[in-house]
Amino acid sequence: TATVRGVRRSFGGTPVLDDLHLDLVPGELVALLGRSGSGKSTLLRLLAGLDRPDAGQVTVPGTVSVAFQEPRLFPWRRVGRNVELALREGTRTERRDRARSALAEVGLTEKASVWPVTLSGGQAQRASLARALVREPELLLLDEPFSALDALTRIEMHALVLDVWARHRPAVLLVTHDVDEALTLADRVIVLDQGRIALDIAVRSARPRDLHSPDLVEHRERL
Ligand code: ATP
Ligand code: MG
Repeated sequence: TATVRGVRRSFGGTPVLDDLHLDLVPGELVALLGRSGSGKSTLLRLLAGLDRPDAGQVTVPGTVSVAFQEPRLFPWRRVGRNVELALREGTRTERRDRARSALAEVGLTEKASVWPVTLSGGQAQRASLARALVREPELLLLDEPFSALDALTRIEMHALVLDVWARHRPAVLLVTHDVDEALTLADRVIVLDQGRIALDIAVRSARPRDLHSPDLVEHRERL
């Protein structure tokens, strides 16, 4: 379980996160919504260990992977090597094999030896996901990974994430601006507002109805 306890993070004296509390249970897929500037990426960076809180504690399970909105592949490494570089342990052969199966998982087997620049946007995003998955994370952080994709590729990526999630069952925290995407994918929807969790609801049991739940309709106006 990942826990965030009383976390505060300020920039230039302005608190972005303020006494924030959050638990992420293994195997749950949580969507994180909130208007631009509400602190979603800041929270992800804290969970990923890329930043530290000014106050409070963040504890995470063993392995954490993060995938950003832009794929951030090394252009001077072939796709397979990019995935392999996420691994720090094992022999070169073991790492290559794991990279290969991660690429297979996202349907990019045939792209292992090409340069990143030759990939389409959706393929680059899948390579980025493979790089996050190859470490077999217990916590997978996805910061708007689909927002730059066309509608069809996005739907493919949704299916892919659900598929991967069903097989490995990491805790997933997915940042998105798309309420319908959140409701399609998540068991739980969290809304960040004014530095805190303004809404935290379970949605798995009755997705279509929750689309019109008073809570969500109200919050949708603020997103
Ligand atoms: P978006 O939906 O646009 O991605 P967000 O919810 O991810 O927004 P954050 O990136 O977490 O928002 O930023 C929250 C606030 O913190 C913003 O006002 C931003 O300017 C500020 N901020 C974030 N990182 C830094 C930093 N390193 N230095 C200064 N200010 C920062
Ligand atoms: Mg952000």
